[in-house]
Amino acid sequence: MSFSASVLTLYPEMFPGALGVSLAGRALEAGTWSLEAIQIRDFASDRHRTVDDTPAGGGAGMVMRADVLAKAIDHASPQDDPRPRLLMSPRGKPLTQLRVRELAAGPGVVIVCGRFEGVDQRVIDARGLEEVSVGDFILSGGEPAALVLLDAVVRLLPGVMGNAVSGDEESFENGLLEHPHYTRPQEFEGRQIPEVLTSGNHQKIAAWRRAESERLTKERRPDLLASHPLVK
Ligand code: SAH
Repeated sequence: MSFSASVLTLYPEMFPGALGVSLAGRALEAGTWSLEAIQIRDFASDRHRTVDDTPAGGGAGMVMRADVLAKAIDHASPQDDPRPRLLMSPRGKPLTQLRVRELAAGPGVVIVCGRFEGVDQRVIDARGLEEVSVGDFILSGGEPAALVLLDAVVRLLPGVMGNAVSGDEESFENGLLEHPHYTRPQEFEGRQIPEVLTSGNHQKIAAWRRAESERLTKERRPDLLASHPLVK
């Protein structure tokens, strides 16, 4: 069975978007994964197809209604659906490569994209939505965040990346940022490719790359070193 993504959104036309081209797009065409974008508004029951209302307690903006969203979720993901139900949310747990790997190993995802000020807390609780953040900044909606998450997951699905090993050596996979890359020409505006990389000595190359990874991680992301058990 292929990886199946259902996205609940007020803007289904944003999908597959960037995921319709390149690796993800080819994998979508090949049936390695499937994507269904569901219009939340179709589950509104009033004449005006209202999906939001003013916040209880007052304040600016609008809040997405629990009842409408619950109907949409129940349609996309019946009770026996094994897929995790995510809500893109700046309050959520920051997305990591570890979580991305877990998701890619599973049957798929159901993703709710928020809009306005956010979503009524009761539907988050009642449907057990896992809040996931893509970073400490505020987007205008969950859709770009859902595209980010799906892009990260889809490239890990079997057969999507041509060169399977390239995944294992990347940033975060070993708790480190990746070493710098170089390619021809040998000289660019007076700058040379580091000699070791053209030496042909694979042991030295591996050692250089590892040292560069550690240097960059110490410099830029000391938090990664602190939290990763493999690295001292
Ligand atoms: N009032 C909210 C922000 C709402 S932004 C607050 O202050 O926390 C509107 C929607 O965009 C959210 O419901 C969420 O679905 C999405 N969103 C915004 N920033 C996000 C982020 N960093 N990660 C994931 N989703 C995000």
